[in-house]
This record gives sequence, structure tokens and C-alpha cells, in this order.
Amino acid sequence: MISLGGNVRSVVVLGAHCDDIAIGAGGTLLALCEANIGLRVDALVLSGGGTDREDEERAALRAFCPAAELDVTVHKLPDGRLPAHWDEAKNALEDLRSRTDPDLVIAPHRGDAHQDHRGLAKLVPTVFRGHLTLGYEIVKWDGDLGSPNTYQPLSSERAEKKVALLQQHYPSQRHRPWYDKEAFLGLARIRGIECQSRYAEAFHVTKMTLGLEV
Ligand SMILES: [Zn+2]
Repeated sequence: MISLGGNVRSVVVLGAHCDDIAIGAGGTLLALCEANIGLRVDALVLSGGGTDREDEERAALRAFCPAAELDVTVHKLPDGRLPAHWDEAKNALEDLRSRTDPDLVIAPHRGDAHQDHRGLAKLVPTVFRGHLTLGYEIVKWDGDLGSPNTYQPLSSERAEKKVALLQQHYPSQRHRPWYDKEAFLGLARIRGIECQSRYAEAFHVTKMTLGLEV
């Protein structure tokens, strides 16, 4: 139940903000969708609904999930205020959970210094119980990069494609000082070193089971 075999049919991806999912796990999404044609991907974002950022997110996730059966929900919680909107966030996750029983959940990780990311990460196991969950990382001013324990190696081609899609699909974020190719590829290169690959995305996994015979 919380182990990951080779046949992934359904994935839930969660973000507090538009672009979190793509930054944290865009390369892994590309790999998952290319290896599992027809994969069901249910994406839920807590903030940005009804704004230009929602349009960006929908186009970006379509590009990061080629050939997937993709459903995107973008809610309208205010940015930076998740603790005060706990019930709305929980209800959003519960609603999604009622519609899907994924093989894998991809979400922020509990050690993330941003309160919205951390809050969402804490909600995930209260709703998706017994689901293998990969907690992604996002580089930021707070300096919260830790020691992840799970890696998805990325080829140079796939890492470059991820960064190109980030640059292409989120024009509203280009002005941010950290939003550039060097930052994204730099972190991916370091995570690649840690798993003996050229590039990688890294995740925090708090619980999983082995798939050996019982
Ligand atoms: Zn964010």
C-alpha cells in the first residue's frame, strides 16, 4: 500500500502555490508520465485560483504531464495565510481524496520553512493515509534545504527540459531573483551527485514498506 512498484496508474500532486509542483517535482512528473502512458494525474493547488497564475499553472502542468489523464484544481486560498485557512485546505484535500485513491502522492515536505508549504505537508497524512508520499523541496531565501532520502535521477536532457518548461510557463515569476536556470540546475546537479547521476530531484519520505514476499 505504501510501497512503489513499477506500475503506477494514478498520482496525486499537491502544491500550496502555482509553480510549486513543477519546481519541486517537474522532472519526476515528466519521467512518470513518459513511462506510464495514460497515467492519471490529479493536481491540486491551494492558491492562485481565478488569477493569471492559474492559467500559467494549467498550461505548465499539461506540459509536464504529457499523455496523462490530467485533472487540475486551483483553489483561492490567500498566499501566505494557510494556517488561518486550515479547514478550507483540509476540505480541499478531503474532496480530492473522495475522488481518487492514488498509487503515489507528491507534496511539499514537513521540513519546508514556508508556512504554506509546511502546512500543506502536515495535512497530507491526515487525508492520504497509507499512501506513499514523496515530499519535494523548493530552494528559497530561508535556507531550508536538508538531507533528502529519496531521489529520482534525471538525464541532462530531462533536467534541461524541466528548466525550459519552468521558464516558458511561469512568466509571472521570472522577476524573482532565485527563479533562474542556474538555481534550478545547480540544485539538481547537487542532488545528482548524491545519487550518482548527472542530475536528480530529491524527496523526503517518512514512511514506506518493502515489496518483498511476506
Ligand atoms: Zn510555494
